[in-house]
Amino acid sequence: MFNRKDFVSDTEWKRFLDFSKGFETPNIVVNLRTIKKNFIQLKDSFPYAHIYYAVKSNPGIPVLRLLDSLGSNFDIASRYELDKVLSLNISPDRISYGNTIKKAKDIKYFYEKGVRMFATDSKEDLKTIAKNAPGSRVFVRILVENSPTADWPLSRKFGCHPDMAYDLLVLARDLGLTPYGISFHVGSQQRDIGQWNDAIAKTKYLFESLEDEEGIRLSMINMGGGFPAHYIQPTNELKEYASEITRYLQDDFGEEIPMIILEPGRSLVGDSGILTSEIVLISRKNNTALERWVYIDAGKFNGLIETIDESIKYPVITEKDGGKEGLTIIAGPTCDSMDIIYETEKYKLPIDLKPGDQIYWLSTGAYTSTYASVAFNGFPPLKTYYMGEDGLEEDTV
Ligand SMILES: *Cc1c(COP(=O)(O)O)cnc(C)c1O
Repeated sequence: MFNRKDFVSDTEWKRFLDFSKGFETPNIVVNLRTIKKNFIQLKDSFPYAHIYYAVKSNPGIPVLRLLDSLGSNFDIASRYELDKVLSLNISPDRISYGNTIKKAKDIKYFYEKGVRMFATDSKEDLKTIAKNAPGSRVFVRILVENSPTADWPLSRKFGCHPDMAYDLLVLARDLGLTPYGISFHVGSQQRDIGQWNDAIAKTKYLFESLEDEEGIRLSMINMGGGFPAHYIQPTNELKEYASEITRYLQDDFGEEIPMIILEPGRSLVGDSGILTSEIVLISRKNNTALERWVYIDAGKFNGLIETIDESIKYPVITEKDGGKEGLTIIAGPTCDSMDIIYETEKYKLPIDLKPGDQIYWLSTGAYTSTYASVAFNGFPPLKTYYMGEDGLEEDTV
């Protein structure tokens, strides 16, 4: 159904097969070489931007180490992620606390560890920051349209109307904080580049009105993530995103483009992962049913949660590709009806598949390994292996 070569080169496929030989399924192998390549490409495409890796997308220690060595900064959502990043001797001035939902004691903890940059989108949170992280830089996240062209939404829950963002930045100044900038996230795996245009236009309006009316000069725009990994729905290539978005910035800000922050997750790590699952059972619901059910040992509760509502559609390949194919409903192993992976989207798999055969899920490096239940139905979280230049890299400090 899919051509593996569209997603993984022959060289990398061979490396993967050698590396993963004998691993029990289900598991994910993360190819660090792919992440390095993606980071360098992002840096080249947006040479003026500061990159803050969204740690939640794949918090493996080998990933963090690699990105540290490449000069990345880190966007962090909890004290647990903070501890992990600090344990690698990454300095707190390369860290942003990007979650707008946080406890007072966690803000204090970040402040005590030296973090001085905080996101916010509400008055209550802003006041808590002023009290527990005095003098820090704050940026306000604005709401953007909940566009159907993003395959995984990140807009509705976070952000506030630009009018409120205005008030919050004024209040930030009055509370002794540094009103630093504006952030937005146009939705993850955003296929419509124009979404950045709308958000940048709103940002421009805020920069101008705050300066004209309040004398507040903002310094920074945080354009979030949203850049694509390679799944089955086509997207533009990253360089297309970069040239369009750069043009939007120039149109609105001319020569005086503020400091730009990007917070990529999916686009850096998505393509790096291959999830290997094994077929547990193949059945039909009645004697004449056209569709087979293929049950595998991975599912919504161990790694494939982003297939909720069939949002993210991963390319799937098998050892028996090339022969005749038939319509297939793919489901996970747990006793929960929600644990159906693809039913509406018509995946076709080889008809001679048997229990015990392996199914490979490509582009599963983002939002998989730690996005799994601990032991639902007794199934353990997904085991993740990090493939470096010299073989296995341990996920420990
Ligand atoms: C999750 C998240 C990101 C990463 O988004 P991607 O679409 O995966 O690149 C960036 N910024 C914030 C605030 C996030 O919550």
